[in-house]
Amino acid sequence: MTTSAETLRARARELSGRPALHYIGGRFVEGRSGGRFETLDPATNKPITDVAEGRADDIDAAVAAARKAFDEGPWPHLSPAERARYLEAIADGIEARGDDLVAVECLDTGLPVTQARGQAARAAANFRFFAREIQQEHTTAYRVGDSFINYVVRKPVGVAGLITPWNTPFMLETWKVAPALATGNTCVLKPAEWSPLSATLLAEVIDEVGLPEGVFNLVHGIGEVAGAALTTHPGVQLISFTGETTTGQEIMRAGASTLKRYSFELGGKSPVVVFADCDVDRAVDAAVFGVFSLNGERCTAGSRLLIEASLYDDFVAAVGERARAVRIGDPFDESTELGPLIRPEHHERVSGYITGAIEEGARLVAGGRRPDHMPEGNYLQATVFADVTRDMRIFQEEVFGPVVVATAFADEAEAVRLANDVRYGLAGYVWSGDVGRAHRVAQGIDAGMVWVNSQNVRDLRTPFGGAKASGIGREGGEFSFEFYCETETIHVALGGHRIPRFGVKG
Ligand code: NDP
Repeated sequence: MTTSAETLRARARELSGRPALHYIGGRFVEGRSGGRFETLDPATNKPITDVAEGRADDIDAAVAAARKAFDEGPWPHLSPAERARYLEAIADGIEARGDDLVAVECLDTGLPVTQARGQAARAAANFRFFAREIQQEHTTAYRVGDSFINYVVRKPVGVAGLITPWNTPFMLETWKVAPALATGNTCVLKPAEWSPLSATLLAEVIDEVGLPEGVFNLVHGIGEVAGAALTTHPGVQLISFTGETTTGQEIMRAGASTLKRYSFELGGKSPVVVFADCDVDRAVDAAVFGVFSLNGERCTAGSRLLIEASLYDDFVAAVGERARAVRIGDPFDESTELGPLIRPEHHERVSGYITGAIEEGARLVAGGRRPDHMPEGNYLQATVFADVTRDMRIFQEEVFGPVVVATAFADEAEAVRLANDVRYGLAGYVWSGDVGRAHRVAQGIDAGMVWVNSQNVRDLRTPFGGAKASGIGREGGEFSFEFYCETETIHVALGGHRIPRFGVKG
């Protein structure tokens, strides 16, 4: 390990030397049951620290604090500019503690340090972005000649329940907390049990900023216990959830009796459609980065390469060669491109998909097993399968690891058919030098977001979310406000319009 990697790891250890607690009503507290669970270092699978295990009574306390802050506190009534000042201060706090956040995120998730840095920067950007957006919010008015003016106002809804997964946890948490708070809601965050540490740092930043008590609350815990308690709580009006499609289904079932509003960002199996007339070098770069970055644990990963038949062999060979050269190593090492998977059970799950693909007859082009130089931890080689057909599980199911499959197509129609031939519809990528075709195919793909001749570059103003089994609703820019706000229309009569007169005698 290099010196800087050692220093950063030591800092991460120091920061996570004490148990991670809940943050409820402006205080760091143990769980009421006193229960704890461990979080593990994916590079060694040794325990990092204990985490307070939230149960239903902790969720009750957090929702009560959030409710009080909403009903009695100043937060929903502050002007957008006042709330924006708090959000900017949180962004400053995140930037000031940037190295700490990166260190903790690397330790807890195995995310390579260079990529964790990008995620921490994006987290601060999320707060700054929504601080700006909320101040530009405007309303719509509908004039009905001289007789009426009807206008629309947006109001905060109440207590938002925010449930997040373990991949890029810090960035995803801020992606929900920032718009929830910007719009005047209060919130309870339940981060993933496998990656709790950076959420605790977020609570520390928020605490230092002096946000009014109860506006932001954090409860750690197990999804089926703490998460479920949040989704069924009558005091919670909104649930923004990112995670697996099956969990989304469960949450929707559980919340039915308390009639909540949902935003679901779920799984994906996104196609990368490559035509022979594209800039092949750039397409190879994007294809390799798009699936092996973030350890392959990326919801928008381009995990299915659909390649025009005339380019197929060359493209597969190029991706295979690059995959074999991907630098796998300690997440704290600056040169690492692919770190360990989050947990041994996830490593086992991804490895199971690899074994299954071989059994189904897919051709292994690169990777497929633990790298020889990393005997400990949850490391897996960057893996490429070719000659994969639509009926194989490896084509249909989300692996959520460093595994990509390649399939040839004959023409544009087949490319679109294959792209849409899965239950998911989160993202898509199209590579072609023919402008018309690139747009046609992009529009033909059933997905929430498609990039043309581009890797996954986010514009925070645009809607983010998925079609089909990849989600419900959109967040991002104005679209987040749609979700986090109640829309109310005020109808105002300007003069003496006719009112039918029932019950008038004679
Ligand atoms: P999970 O669905 O397993 O978990 C997500 C969160 O939900 C965790 O906090 C989890 O707690 C919690 N949870 C689990 N069960 C319940 C329940 N019954 N009620 C309430 N909450 C519950 O997802 P993963 O953490 O495994 O994340 C990976 C998934 O996330 C992939 O499918 C990936 O595609 C998707 N994802 C989607 C994104 C998108 O924008 N579309 C972005 C990033 C990831 P616990 O940790 O204890 O299980």
